Amino acid sequence: MRAAAAFLATTATAAALLIGTPAQAAPDAGGPLAGKVILLDPGHQLGNSNPAFAKQMAQKKFNGTTVKGCNTTGTATNGGYPEATFNWRVAKRLKRLLEAQGARVELTRTSNSRDAWGPCVWDRAKQANRIGADIMVNIHADGSSARNRGFFLLAPGLVKGWTEDVVKPGRRLAKAMISGMTKAGAPPSNYIRDQLMISTNTTGLNFSDVPTVTVELGNMRNAADARLMTSTSGQRSYARWLLAGIDSYFARG
Ligand SMILES: [Zn+2]
Repeated sequence: MRAAAAFLATTATAAALLIGTPAQAAPDAGGPLAGKVILLDPGHQLGNSNPAFAKQMAQKKFNGTTVKGCNTTGTATNGGYPEATFNWRVAKRLKRLLEAQGARVELTRTSNSRDAWGPCVWDRAKQANRIGADIMVNIHADGSSARNRGFFLLAPGLVKGWTEDVVKPGRRLAKAMISGMTKAGAPPSNYIRDQLMISTNTTGLNFSDVPTVTVELGNMRNAADARLMTSTSGQRSYARWLLAGIDSYFARG
């Protein structure tokens, strides 16, 4: 009897896992994320370091403050795990989590490949404008000194003629995300005060006409952060923390 009961319980659990994981659940039409249009930007691209694309990478544009390049290679862990791959994997997981809550989600790139480059940061922001995104979240990781760890956000600062429309909502988005992510358990930065930097010189933020932030999820040169960032369970946690941050913004209305 006992053995049979245990067998039934195991079977029931397996069946529940097959049909009922959150990512597969029907969209929750009533939650704060229902119907929201969200652009996720997994920073960089593996091929940005491919010499075949040097010409594309060398494109430049004025961003309201200074002239900057199309895109960059991003950082890496000491073990060589690229930031582009980390950003990509977290964004893909986050997309599924947001869609399960009823959001409509687009990504700024469709691959993570050494045979692909960009798109340029200004084109990523223009995508947000084109689709009328409610928010754009740029997903990155920092490459700072080894003792520094934890997440922080960049929000657009005031650049006349460029960011008047996004300074206030960007700040509101940043604060809500910092609060939501911290409450959900994301390790906060120990080197950026209040986890918030205001930037007047980030091309993707300056070109955006929708509320936007850049999230530096952790420091790839810090051993504890690197362990989290390179593991599947860690990447799952980062996606959940971002979900909590985004949810906190929309829950506040
Ligand atoms: Zn980056």
